[in-house]
Amino acid sequence: MSADLAALTGIDVPTGLFIDGEWTSNGRTLPVTDPATEETLVEIADGTPDDGLAAVAAAYRALPGWAATPPRQRAECLRKAWALMIERSESIARLMVLENGKALRDAQGEVTYAAEFFRWYAEEAVRIDGMVTTAPAGTNRILVVRQPVGVSVLVTPWNFPAAMATRKIGPALAAGCTVVLKPAKETPLCAFAVAEILREAGVPHGVLNVVCTSKAGPLVSAMLADPRVRKLSFTGSTEVGRTLLATAAQTVTNCSMELGGNAPFLIFEDADLDAALDGAFLAKMRNGGEACTAANRFYVHETVADEFTSRFADRLSKLAVGPGLEQGTDLGPLVNEDTRSKVASLVESATAGGARVVTGGRAPDRRGYFYLPTVLADVPPDAPILGTEIFGPVAPVVRFRDEADVVRWANDTEYGLVSYVYTADLSRALRVSEALETGMVGVNRGIVSDPAAPFGGVKQSGIGREGGHDGLLEFMESKYIAVDW
Ligand code: NAD
Repeated sequence: MSADLAALTGIDVPTGLFIDGEWTSNGRTLPVTDPATEETLVEIADGTPDDGLAAVAAAYRALPGWAATPPRQRAECLRKAWALMIERSESIARLMVLENGKALRDAQGEVTYAAEFFRWYAEEAVRIDGMVTTAPAGTNRILVVRQPVGVSVLVTPWNFPAAMATRKIGPALAAGCTVVLKPAKETPLCAFAVAEILREAGVPHGVLNVVCTSKAGPLVSAMLADPRVRKLSFTGSTEVGRTLLATAAQTVTNCSMELGGNAPFLIFEDADLDAALDGAFLAKMRNGGEACTAANRFYVHETVADEFTSRFADRLSKLAVGPGLEQGTDLGPLVNEDTRSKVASLVESATAGGARVVTGGRAPDRRGYFYLPTVLADVPPDAPILGTEIFGPVAPVVRFRDEADVVRWANDTEYGLVSYVYTADLSRALRVSEALETGMVGVNRGIVSDPAAPFGGVKQSGIGREGGHDGLLEFMESKYIAVDW
């Protein structure tokens, strides 16, 4: 099977456990499935809690050496990893399509974005600062130094198999931390390819370890119960995030949580509708809607709602749906059957409640976990689809008349990751941006992700930030030294 992967991607992809700088195996395996064919792509090593603890031990042994490595040297490893990832970008993109399903164009975009976290954090590694000041009473100096938080467990989802890994590994390694990465079992191959790149870039044994498993709960719990682990950085669903916060509380482990979203996309009557359509397309269809930042609810002013809905539906209905590697494909399959049936049942319940299918609204009649791009009009404001993360190519449209109402509706959710606002009125854009309860706002823009910016949510969308300088600080502790001199 691996031979096929090499032929399809142009690279040899490891399939084992990466512990202490070596690819090993424990004799157990789990299958990775191609969502476009529903067939097994390859069998990979299925890690156990003992494997997780071996990885923690390796990371712990490597910690003092890596923390003491000159920042410039840590930076050089990350910079080399960026260059290698760009060199191999087409192969990794193809690998991503095979395990995740997304269209090749989306995968290519993700690989560039993912690699950029290595370049950005190569630049940040040499900019770790501290502070010195005088105590208000004048009695002493206050000296603050930053130190790596320690061994970090990184848990990532399947929807951005490369970028969610590099967004954590980049700052962790820049800060001087050592890590154990636990990728999602649906998409471990990109994580393995990234590990191989970091090994080639000169990252010492034990600094990065990767263990995938079919049983995430026991493996991650075993690692979090180990007092040598001082940090959990998790990206995934709010439901699993809540469980992990409770587990991490037992050892008072530092947590950064990037959780689910329910992004509102607001289009006011004065918006440039062409630009809003482009932004809506990006915010909804990037990654086939399988993004925490995906526009989940379109609130469109009643004077432009009909035109927006019909033009958006027209655009979505023209997308070519098919296997991600096939020439001309715009939209690949969803990652698995559970995701597709969740999307289908949300659409069914919306239509049962009065929503109208303008385009799509069903799975095409073919093998693979496909779902047609869908636009729903006349969605009642209290429909369950508006309160649930859809994670698929479905756009529910709701009409509004009043700014205060739409802000209230937008905020009426436990989530608070990102929102989007289209208007030509600058003061309205900023007023509404301030009123929206989300960690990020796209103003006249359908995409916010940028390695240089602090990405993250409020409310139950998470705790902490990834990217930018903030992302580095998540892997550092401030140590205060009171000094007389
Ligand atoms: P998930 O929560 O099911 O899984 C995420 C990771 O946690 C996977 O590695 C999984 O194996 C692991 N996991 C699952 N159960 C676990 C348990 N009991 N203990 C420990 N680990 C466990 O999420 P998913 O379905 O892989 O990804 C989709 C979710 O991720 C969506 O909710 C999406 O919004 C969110 N997400 C958030 C961001 C962000 O930055 N805020 C980015 C991407 C995805």
